[in-house]
Amino acid sequence: MKRLVAGILAIVLVLIAVVIGRTLMLPPPPVVDASALPAPISNDAAMRAAANLSAAIKMPTISWQRGATGDKAEASQKALVDFRDFISATYPAFTAATTREIVSDYSLLFTWRGSDESLKPVLLMSHMDVVPVVAGTEGDWIHAPFAGEIADGSVWGRGAIDCKGSLIAMLEAAETLSAQSFQPKRTIMFAFGHDEEVSGLNGNLKIAQMLEARGVKLAFVSDEGGMVTQGVVGGVTGPVAIIGIAEKGYMTLQLTAHAKGGHSSMPPAQNETAVGRLIKAMTHVGAAPFKSGMDVPTRAMLDALAPAMPFTRRMVFANMWLFEPLVVSLMSAEPSTGAQLHTTIAPTMLKAGVKENVLPPEAEGIINFRLHRRDTIESAIAHVTAAIDDPEVDIATLEGAREASAVSNLEGASFALLRQSISASFPDALIAPNLTVAGTDSRHYLPLTDNVFRFVPLRLNAAELAGFHATNERVPVASLGEAVGFYVSMMQNLDAPEL
Ligand SMILES: [Zn+2]
Repeated sequence: MKRLVAGILAIVLVLIAVVIGRTLMLPPPPVVDASALPAPISNDAAMRAAANLSAAIKMPTISWQRGATGDKAEASQKALVDFRDFISATYPAFTAATTREIVSDYSLLFTWRGSDESLKPVLLMSHMDVVPVVAGTEGDWIHAPFAGEIADGSVWGRGAIDCKGSLIAMLEAAETLSAQSFQPKRTIMFAFGHDEEVSGLNGNLKIAQMLEARGVKLAFVSDEGGMVTQGVVGGVTGPVAIIGIAEKGYMTLQLTAHAKGGHSSMPPAQNETAVGRLIKAMTHVGAAPFKSGMDVPTRAMLDALAPAMPFTRRMVFANMWLFEPLVVSLMSAEPSTGAQLHTTIAPTMLKAGVKENVLPPEAEGIINFRLHRRDTIESAIAHVTAAIDDPEVDIATLEGAREASAVSNLEGASFALLRQSISASFPDALIAPNLTVAGTDSRHYLPLTDNVFRFVPLRLNAAELAGFHATNERVPVASLGEAVGFYVSMMQNLDAPEL
């Protein structure tokens, strides 16, 4: 007995030693050499970018719900044409250095031809359209959403973050370089979609198809996704540059429950009414979560962040061989982190009945799923069908379903170049890959490249991030200046032959 206790004690001690040993062996976060800081973009250049972003915000390039017509749609179309003219007028050197193609009337593809045609082009993306301001919230804006005011050190308005800020920063960088007669060695393309907020089916999908038909292969694609944020990632106090290296899939299922209609005074058991059957089906789907777990993007994120975390968290992340199940269950319990780990289930719409005393013969429910890479559209439908297990409930897939993306290559030269450009412009930031849980237009280019990086070089705090698709969207002028610096550095570094 004594020997057994001694044995167990020895095992526990070894375990503790290994856990602490592995924690202490984690490399410290990289130290920033202040003398290596890049020359910041001049105040004048940042102010010019801010003035141009302000002008861009004043053009209400709103994407209304798909298929919208009438005055609102016409106003948006006019704004998109104004935006196109604004680019030509504001960026003359860029306009002269590039060729422009207009796709589906409003989306824009600019090609800045490189001197070495044997190098695969890169594609930089930003969309021109913005989401509407929710009716009734206009008064909550400190500065009106389409006034483009520059106040308190920020440019205010719808689209400042998503996505006109990065679009203007790209153009400022390209204008500065082309005005200095810089010609890239590698062709740089700029794709500015006009319908990203409604799936990009007329904009970037069409541009991607056009490039594919021409046999174009891209070295990499840069699109929106992560940003440089501070105080947002749990436990890390310094700034973190998040790069989305994969994107979740998308699927919406429509459940239609059938039953005999009739007078509500003599109803069958609830489970035999259409409404009851639908409620049961949706409850069963909610009670059958998809498998949760770590994979490459999430692991890469935790590995990158661990060195900067407080000791206890560092200890956990340095010993995933032991703590992974605990981490998975803690992360799964939170909506924001759980979305990284599994396919999510979101019931979003319900429709049934026309009158309070009539049993409807049909009840309809809509569930939106964001597919983790371990589930396909087919396997997810099978999972849901098995969970419902009721032949009186029809399951239909709505238009727009798509599989999760592949994971971009973290070992390749393209990712290394992106890292280098981020380090040059944000030397104080940790760089962490992750999984983008929302959709971006970059998915349309997946057939053309193995490397899609979803990163916008804007430095935002939690309050500023809260403006994304919401009230008081704004971007600090200083952040905009840093973003211009990032794109200048990136465009200058694209010459490496092996991207
Ligand atoms: Zn966006």
